[in-house]
Amino acid sequence: MAEEEEKPFKPPCKADAFDAVGLYPELDKDFTKFLQRTTFDSQSEESLIRPMPLPGPQDWLSRFPTDPESFEKWESREERNEVVVGKNTIYILPIGEFSEQTRVEEHATGKHSGVTDPFLAELLEYAEIFFFGLPIKMLPRVPVESLNATTRNYEVARGVKRDQLQTKEIFLFLLHMLPRDAYCVLAITMMDLYPDRRWNFVFGQASTRDRIGVFSFARNHPDFFSAGKVVSLDKLSEVSVLAKQLMTWRSCNILTHEITHMFGLEHCVYFSCLMNGRNHEEESDRSGSFLCPVCLHKMQHAIGFDFVARYKTMLAFYESRLATVDEDSTEEDRYKKCYNWLQKALKLIQECQT
Ligand SMILES: [Zn+2]
Ligand SMILES: [Zn+2]
Repeated sequence: MAEEEEKPFKPPCKADAFDAVGLYPELDKDFTKFLQRTTFDSQSEESLIRPMPLPGPQDWLSRFPTDPESFEKWESREERNEVVVGKNTIYILPIGEFSEQTRVEEHATGKHSGVTDPFLAELLEYAEIFFFGLPIKMLPRVPVESLNATTRNYEVARGVKRDQLQTKEIFLFLLHMLPRDAYCVLAITMMDLYPDRRWNFVFGQASTRDRIGVFSFARNHPDFFSAGKVVSLDKLSEVSVLAKQLMTWRSCNILTHEITHMFGLEHCVYFSCLMNGRNHEEESDRSGSFLCPVCLHKMQHAIGFDFVARYKTMLAFYESRLATVDEDSTEEDRYKKCYNWLQKALKLIQECQT
């Protein structure tokens, strides 16, 4: 990350956070109650939604102070890219090798049938649930050579060098291939990225105006910082089930965080939220997988999903994943945490309905 001067950040007070959720009379009654409850409960230990912690010196907000963006402010943004019929498909474009067996073919009937790589299939399935109701398509994989992108071999840790791909040429490529019915196109890669020579790396970069973005999962790989190890998803077979699960969980979070930016959402400063800015892995893990009440309202407004059906489908997703993990899996089990969170959320919704 680039060096920037440190400036203090003060989290918004409870009243401001509550106002920012934007509870309008036309909102669904149960949804209003749920947003209200999660906002008010956010100070309690047992709450679903946690307040925004004071940023540490290495955290995003200490490095890049961000203005709060309430629901109202977001909704009134003129340049916001609205979801309209015929221009509502989210495209995901894999760049380079993910694993030896990575072969993505776009199938005439769309959806999963063409995605043979289990990691990519998982990302696709998760995105379909997160952006509930919008079509999501995985495009055929593009080899790195086709991009004519500038690359460099950079020391990412003492004695560990990784190939990095400059984002500029990827952006040009995406601009030219943007499908007619695309809401946005997001490129994903297992190569590390950098925007220009002044930076050591970026997790990802996007242009919401152009509806394109690229991001890398390289740094989620358990062997990324290990000298002599190859960063390929094939090598994941050598690591534990939990390490694999953690990598996939982190990648799903990056994917949904970056795509959510396309809906005009800035980094969230109200609560601990998927949309918090993230400067390092620990901060990223802390922000979790779920949207806070402010961001959830924005996304519900943009897509128009049924928030209960969405949470139920998410719960079923985690339930099926948990079946693949040992029964005695520990607290480290991210899927279990997400599953428990969703169960709690659905219980709260039930309370709101009575
Ligand atoms: Zn972001
Ligand atoms: Zn948020």
